[in-house]
Amino acid sequence: MFEQVVEQADLGVSITDVEANILYVNPAFTRITGYAQEAALGRKQSMLSHKVTPPAVYRDLWSKLAAHQSWTGRLVNRRADGGKYLAELVITPVLDDQGEVVRYLGLQRDVTGLHRLECEVANQKALIETVVDAAPLVMALLDGDHRVVLDNHEYKKLMGDLGMVEPAAAILDAVRADMGHGLGAAKEGSYAFLNREVRIDTRARARWFSCSAIWVRREEGDADSFFGGAKSVFLLLAATETTEQRAQQEKARMAALRAMLAEENRITALRETLAAAVYQLEGPLNMMGSVLGTMERRGGGLPAGAALAEAMNAARAALDGLRAAIPANSGELPTAVNLNEALHDVLELAAPRMLALGIHVAWRPQAVLPAILGYPNRLRTMLKALIDNAVEALNTKGWRERELSITSAATDDAVEVAIRDSGPGIPAAARLKAFEPFFTTKKERGHLGTGLASAQQVAQDHGGAVELEAAEGGGCVARVVLPLRRS
Ligand code: FAD
Repeated sequence: MFEQVVEQADLGVSITDVEANILYVNPAFTRITGYAQEAALGRKQSMLSHKVTPPAVYRDLWSKLAAHQSWTGRLVNRRADGGKYLAELVITPVLDDQGEVVRYLGLQRDVTGLHRLECEVANQKALIETVVDAAPLVMALLDGDHRVVLDNHEYKKLMGDLGMVEPAAAILDAVRADMGHGLGAAKEGSYAFLNREVRIDTRARARWFSCSAIWVRREEGDADSFFGGAKSVFLLLAATETTEQRAQQEKARMAALRAMLAEENRITALRETLAAAVYQLEGPLNMMGSVLGTMERRGGGLPAGAALAEAMNAARAALDGLRAAIPANSGELPTAVNLNEALHDVLELAAPRMLALGIHVAWRPQAVLPAILGYPNRLRTMLKALIDNAVEALNTKGWRERELSITSAATDDAVEVAIRDSGPGIPAAARLKAFEPFFTTKKERGHLGTGLASAQQVAQDHGGAVELEAAEGGGCVARVVLPLRRS
């Protein structure tokens, strides 16, 4: 029975004496090596040796056998026809009753094809790892518990920048917060999210990434899953850095905003100047009108009266001309405006000047501020005028307290912005007058005194108001209250 089993086994079997002289080989051995039984018997096993196998391998083989242990390994063998193959061998000493080695049993199979496949897999793995490592992308593969099981060079670099915090966790947290819900059900080949812009604050600076993640499934390699075909779900995360593009976009946006605000300022100043000039000219003209009326009632038809009437008509025509020359408001459409964002823009633009003047800014916005319905550029112009006023106040010669505090807050029906400076403040009597066109506390040229009047106008056009108050501990607070008329 044993003989039949060994004869028919699909595994090359050889039995040798202690000198490795072959005493028996089975048909499978002949199929693998090309040596027929008659040709093999009496020869040494080393007939199969292809001399490229390093001597150390044989030394290891024989030292194991000498210690009465089995040896398992791979050898490069040469067939009877000279062809080479890779043999996987198990060589076991056979002991007699006294524990002495009397025979060796060799079992071998040709694993050339298997080895080729293993090499292909290893090569592909190395190639994929090289490509993934060289890619200018942050990449990571996460298991079902969101543990990183594979990552690339860029991922490791980002992890270093984050002080060894897993970037995957930071990205997933930011994406979840942005999406406002979980990542959805895992579906092989479908995106968990696509091109989500995520901000990650590293130790040095804020960085931006465009992130995508796709669900992938992997066959489980354990025995339990062999027939069941169990698969586990993984998330392949890829993130491209967009910090540079964002910085460029932001720079371009700020430049456009700066130009727009300058233009808006110029037009507002012109509008207010003309409107105030018309207003101030109307006073004397009305007086002249009443004088003329009196003259007409008393004597009528005097040459002086005719001349005055003519002068008045000319003046009225000139006033109409001035009125027509007042530029209309820009054709901006009302939209949802977040005053925090508008304030942030204005502060960003004013930052270099404030830095140069040694002004310290405390910016305390309400974390989430509801949007109001309004004209974004006019509102920015208004906020800029109020901040410019505060900066001017702080820039008073010899003034040392240079604190500017800006807060935003929302009530049930309004949004309030307070711009508080630690400057010399405005005397109580001047606080109301400050809103009149052409009123200015500055003596230098170039101060038209229309800034507050214009700011008040913008606030009123939004159904709100600007007020000036004395700040606690000195200085001035410009408080803007705008009603919440949600879009
Ligand atoms: P060898 O002169 O045979 O030996 C190399 C080194 O091995 C020597 O320096 C010596 O220290 C040690 N050594 C050799 N013979 C003995 C011994 N009897 N006792 C202790 N140490 C010893 N080799 C193959 O290449 N392919 C095979 O398929 C293969 N199958 C084998 C199957 C069995 C059952 C056994 C017992 C051995 C098998 N060998 C096989 C090993 C083979 O016997 C040779 O050791 C090997 O091929 C190296 O041959 P060599 O002529 O280069 O050196």
